[in-house]
Amino acid sequence: MKLNGKLEEYASLKDKNTYRIDTTARYFYEPDSIEDLKTFLTFAKENNWEYFVIGNGSNLILSDDMYPGIVVKLDSKDFRDIKYQENKVTVGAGVMINKLSYDILDHGLSGLEWASGIPGSIGGCIFGNAGAYNSETFDFLESVIYLTKDGECVTKKKEELSHGYRTTWFKEHPENIIVSATFLLSYGTKEKSLELIRNRFERRKASQPIDKPSAGSVFRNPSPELSSWKLIDEVGLKGFRIGDAMVSDKHANFIVNMGHATGKDIKSLIKLIEEKVKKEKNIDLVLEQEIRDW
Ligand SMILES: Cc1cc2nc3c(=O)[nH]c(=O)nc-3n(C[C@H](O)[C@H](O)[C@H](O)COP(=O)(O)OP(=O)(O)OC[C@H]3O[C@@H](n4cnc5c(N)ncnc54)[C@H](O)[C@@H]3O)c2cc1C
Repeated sequence: MKLNGKLEEYASLKDKNTYRIDTTARYFYEPDSIEDLKTFLTFAKENNWEYFVIGNGSNLILSDDMYPGIVVKLDSKDFRDIKYQENKVTVGAGVMINKLSYDILDHGLSGLEWASGIPGSIGGCIFGNAGAYNSETFDFLESVIYLTKDGECVTKKKEELSHGYRTTWFKEHPENIIVSATFLLSYGTKEKSLELIRNRFERRKASQPIDKPSAGSVFRNPSPELSSWKLIDEVGLKGFRIGDAMVSDKHANFIVNMGHATGKDIKSLIKLIEEKVKKEKNIDLVLEQEIRDW
């Protein structure tokens, strides 16, 4: 049995998740091509291998225990391709969406300015329909190509994939691996887009702890009028700490890693926030980040 690509045993995942949780995978695999990924899926099915795909790990709270299976990352050249055709761009799942938001500007296109501050891969952003400033990934999506657990390659139009606020068909079918997607963009002016991007960056820098390890917003906002950060602030948890996991004193809907926070520290802090907001505000907060326990 031979897998093409990079296979590592007892691989650290610390620099593969933006919380910097210091955990390990029994195996870490980077296929060189879609063909390699197909072969991997065939082996995985035949041998009952447990696996999951990691993008940039910017929406994940990983378990502190070693993952007993294979973590797959689409990082090779084949998954980082960006191809233009008029106002359409076809992009590999491993490309970072913030990179794409700049790249399209050199092709006279615009539309992804909202995504310039999101540190996620195209695969991860499609999986969770990432969004900001009233725009979301599916607004610009035309189609997605993914592999099923049997290694079958499927192309689906956006209309064939159910999606909503931070949710998609892929969340209900996590065994599928997104390999690329086509986005439909508008024509625009680079200077104008850059101005908007700069503006948004300044806003993020002023309001979010982007200098510290985190995974972005912890909870969804209960409604457009009601922000989670406000609720967490009002129950007095800004700056509250369990181990090295702390409710950011800059933005109360962020938990930041102050040094050596474990997955357990972060999950305990989340539980405490949920309980306090429920008790004092009678609101059930809904988690936006994904807990990966194994
Ligand atoms: C500072 C900061 C700011 C952020 N701001 C925002 C924001 O404004 N808006 C927002 O929506 N999010 C935001 N996030 C959260 C995060 O960046 C997004 O959720 C992003 O889409 C996650 O992408 P990822 O590649 O890191 O996915 P990961 O965290 O690696 O994975 C998330 C899920 O996607 C699955 N997945 C990843 N790749 C694939 C693939 N190829 N095929 C199938 N499944 C896949 C994984 O298995 C996992 O279940 C922020 C995070 C940080 C740290």
